[in-house]
Amino acid sequence: MNNILEIINLSHAYSKNENSITGINLDIQEGERVSILGPSGCGKSTLLRLIAGLEKPSQGEIKIKGIKASSRKNLLPPEKRNVGLVVQDKALFPHLSVYSNICFGIKKNKTKDDIASELLTLFKIENLKSKYPHEISGGEQQRVALARSLATNPDLLMLDEPFSALDKDLKETLYSEISLVFSERKSTILLVTHDQKEAELMTERQIMMEKGSFLE
Ligand code: ADP
Ligand code: MG
Repeated sequence: MNNILEIINLSHAYSKNENSITGINLDIQEGERVSILGPSGCGKSTLLRLIAGLEKPSQGEIKIKGIKASSRKNLLPPEKRNVGLVVQDKALFPHLSVYSNICFGIKKNKTKDDIASELLTLFKIENLKSKYPHEISGGEQQRVALARSLATNPDLLMLDEPFSALDKDLKETLYSEISLVFSERKSTILLVTHDQKEAELMTERQIMMEKGSFLE
């Protein structure tokens, strides 16, 4: 099996006296779906930002596909890491159609249409193709955001509480539909959430986090 993510003894601090993350170790293999489960403020988003290259560690190391991506001394820029991050507030481009939002990051013009069509079908949003974000519901926007993040075929897709703005019934439909898409595509997923049910329904392995550290 291929190692996608390797985190070794990682720490981070926003201010001098207080760590947001302390001594995190984590390995994720290709095709694995893992979640980190913990209360608000425990450091989940910070950990994802570290993996994305948006924050620099104060100690330790992050390797992506065996390549050193983050340490105290070196930081591979976010655009050079083939990782995706989907957050709660979707961040679709308001002036682009659903179709153009999904195609946005795809470089090869030739394959653009095939990739977009496949994702529109997978996420059951073909009928929304020409609509703009303000014309579709929150659940639909979240499907588009997930489709867009898979369009570039990231080595690792990170999801930061992606469903927390949605109501309960809608969430439960999305859990099963979207985990099916992930398992069909053999996507490597790291989800962070405070919702135990979400973690259990979306991923095969759950790690508990508290005050910046993983609980063993
Ligand atoms: P979670 O995503 O689990 O809610 P965060 O990673 O957002 O937790 O936050 C972890 C800790 O870092 C919290 O104590 C939070 O207040 C602090 N924090 C988060 N972002 C910043 C920031 N930009 N500057 C300073 N402190 C921050
Ligand atoms: Mg957070």
